[in-house]
Amino acid sequence: MASAGSLPDLEKRLKAYEGRPSAVVGVGKDPVNAPMIRHWCEAMGDNNPAYAGPDAIAPPTMLQVWTMGGLSGLSGHSGDNGRTKAYDELLALLDEAGCTSVVATDCEQEYLRALRPGDEITFDAVIESVSERKTTKLGTGYFVTTRMDVWVGEDLAGTHRFRILKYAPARRQEKPPRPRPVVNRDNAGFWEGVRQHRLLIQRCTGCGTLRHPWLPGCNTCGCPDWDTVEASGEGTVYSYVVLHHPPFPAFTPPYAVALIELAEGVRMISNVLGLAYDKVRIGQSVRLEFQSYNDDLVLPVFRVGGEAA
Ligand code: ZN
Repeated sequence: MASAGSLPDLEKRLKAYEGRPSAVVGVGKDPVNAPMIRHWCEAMGDNNPAYAGPDAIAPPTMLQVWTMGGLSGLSGHSGDNGRTKAYDELLALLDEAGCTSVVATDCEQEYLRALRPGDEITFDAVIESVSERKTTKLGTGYFVTTRMDVWVGEDLAGTHRFRILKYAPARRQEKPPRPRPVVNRDNAGFWEGVRQHRLLIQRCTGCGTLRHPWLPGCNTCGCPDWDTVEASGEGTVYSYVVLHHPPFPAFTPPYAVALIELAEGVRMISNVLGLAYDKVRIGQSVRLEFQSYNDDLVLPVFRVGGEAA
């Protein structure tokens, strides 16, 4: 948002449009009339007796209907919906400030006098307010509220407030990187091995039991001493789940997460490559490979079909 000057300068310029007309004065194309009321009530399923018979009034929510020009437009409006230069300038200023997107947010109506068949209406509209700069989920921009006043002669019949958000669309976030493993003193050797494309299994030097994940001591004999053996890379799918929900930003569901039993007997959680998520099966033979993610992250994964890619 640089080209329109500094932010306070921009906001001052936007505020200057408050109170200026947003539409030139219009005259209702038809007087308020019973056939249009009837069509409206039929379309809405509104059987209120107040809207029929010799003393009928128009449904108040029809207020805007009487101001509409239809496909052929209103006389005196040259196909631009009667928008004023001031309103076009305001929108252009917002475009120039980067707020090139628009969304209608809400409208409010206020009813002051019932409209009856035969009433001839006029209307005008004003730029009622331009908000402070707001950030929404859609992006950052300004709410612009216009207020249309609908008149019968000197009587104000109702008002129709219409609000839009002109905004600069929020940048779509790039897919976040895959989560990093938590590396600590107990498992640093495992991740160092992975970095070197070696899958190391901890082995208790007291009783020879293999273990994964890495632990500071042996669950079998309690011995704190250990060394490692390098996995052959052969394994089978011991179990798996297919994750549909909840979605995690770095992953695109659905995908399979498998518990792989290594030929050495320990099991580890990993991904299975080379197969659609719904084709993973218990007992499939898999082979270890090392996959790089986001340049600096290496993870052990398992591919069905033997040959490393
Ligand atoms: Zn042991």
